[in-house]
Amino acid sequence: MPKSVSIHIESRTHDWQRQLAQAISNTDELLAALNIPPQQRMTQVTGCGDFPLRVTRHYLDKIRPGDLQDPLLLQVLVRAREFDAVPGYQHDPVGDLASVKAPGLLHKYHGRALLITTAACAIHCRYCFRRHFPYTDHQPRQSEWDERISYLRRHKDIREIILSGGDPLMLSDDKLDEILQRLESVPRLQYCRIHSRLPTLVTGRFTDQLLQRMAASRLQFILVTHINHAHEINASDSRMFDALHQAGIQLLNQSVLLHQVNASAETLAELSHTLFQNHVLPYYLHMLDPVAGAAHFEVDPSTVPGIMEALRARLPGYLVPRLVREITGNHSKSPVIGL
Ligand SMILES: *Cc1c(COP(=O)(O)O)cnc(C)c1O
Ligand code: SF4
Repeated sequence: MPKSVSIHIESRTHDWQRQLAQAISNTDELLAALNIPPQQRMTQVTGCGDFPLRVTRHYLDKIRPGDLQDPLLLQVLVRAREFDAVPGYQHDPVGDLASVKAPGLLHKYHGRALLITTAACAIHCRYCFRRHFPYTDHQPRQSEWDERISYLRRHKDIREIILSGGDPLMLSDDKLDEILQRLESVPRLQYCRIHSRLPTLVTGRFTDQLLQRMAASRLQFILVTHINHAHEINASDSRMFDALHQAGIQLLNQSVLLHQVNASAETLAELSHTLFQNHVLPYYLHMLDPVAGAAHFEVDPSTVPGIMEALRARLPGYLVPRLVREITGNHSKSPVIGL
């Protein structure tokens, strides 16, 4: 493509960026858009906190109007229970801070390292284990790239780089291009995994520029989406997944097991089928990390083995996600067995 053309493309604001700028950050506005009358809010819903409400219109469109118990709404709604202190629920539940090996680079497991690319997210998931992560101290600054790249070069086990955050797809195409150029200079890197919730939160994130850049890379791409409920995928998302599949990108999904959202075999089976119809394989089902503010999402541990048994009884093995939990100090995510 001639240079002038690519400059022209990047200089305009993409529609997905406009959608982000129009995200809702006000509880009253959110509930009004869903036709939930103020008197139904009672004392359960609140509007503030250091991790403010944030929802995109595309996600909002998938919430059932008038239903305060909608499984998508509950993931983003700030409820008063967040502010209860619950024993065992901490600020850094998975020991991330101990794994920081270079600025913004976490190396916890053999063979793969995780790069924190940005603190920003398109929506704020109330159960997020990184909701208290001190991003401002770990955001990659330009001058620190040498340190990161030299760490990746020195550690010969690392074949895969995971772009995480926050949400790496919040970065502009130009910024992603710059990061990929740096990573491509590390000879041993083969895979680039993108952990992102953005694909189903806005439309049009996979611009032609981004798809062409990925196709031109020597790295093999894996996109791990974050979807907790089948209702999070609509017809326009399906068209996007078709395009990604056509482009040869390996598609996986991770979910979190969440009280009132997806904690039943029926809901999880429907999610797996919907994912597979969109070329996405269920990868992990995470147990909730005990992060302060998220205790109300905890699923009673005694019910979990029954849910998983019922799920295995309904689905072929390849549609059953691996139920895992993060245990500080372990060499991988830990399979949850015999809870
Ligand atoms: C979860 C995680 C990974 C990825 O683990 P996989 O089992 O390969 O999906 C890598 N690094 C860090 C720091 C992680 O938290
Ligand atoms: S998109 Fe991911 S990182 Fe961002 S708030 Fe949600 S769970 Fe957390």
